[in-house]
Amino acid sequence: MEETLLASIAEEVVSCHKCKLGASRTKAVAGDGSAHARICFVGEGPGREEDLSGIPFVGQAGRLLDRMLIAEGLSRKDCYICNIVKCRPPNNRVPDPAEVAACSLYLYAQLAIIKPDIICLLGNTALRFFFGEQYSIGQVRGTILVKDELRFMPTYHPAAALRNPQYVQVIESDLRKLAALIQPTTD
Ligand code: SF4
Repeated sequence: MEETLLASIAEEVVSCHKCKLGASRTKAVAGDGSAHARICFVGEGPGREEDLSGIPFVGQAGRLLDRMLIAEGLSRKDCYICNIVKCRPPNNRVPDPAEVAACSLYLYAQLAIIKPDIICLLGNTALRFFFGEQYSIGQVRGTILVKDELRFMPTYHPAAALRNPQYVQVIESDLRKLAALIQPTTD
């Protein structure tokens, strides 16, 4: 049931032209992973390799994320991963407010179907989409934020860790907390 609903969103996304990013993309990138995921990762938008493949987080940053997930005992296939905007902004620029607003219905629909226990926000664009411009990853990463009955944990985007390798340990520590949050309790 959830798989079918996610697939119908993906079908809509691949032919969507609700904002100007639809004109410049190669492939729209709806999302990937389990419809029953307990953790949903939300990044900013597809990059070059994602735009070519139609699959999220398959470039250098995605491969780094995969390695960090494995290191913390998490498997990508048990998670769901997507972005704020489903089409690549030219030259990887930050999506503008009109693009984010136009695309947000897909993200909200995906989250409503999956109902994850926690949403991991990767980077400032994802964080600020939910919490506003006054928030910054450096200040709130690794903490649990709650809004509209959804639980969030922000952390650095893996692309930031490619530029600043010291963030790898920080992200891994946040992923460790995420992994602990979804462990079944013994009592
Ligand atoms: S970014 Fe979102 S709203 Fe804009 S064209 Fe792509 S799928 Fe549609």
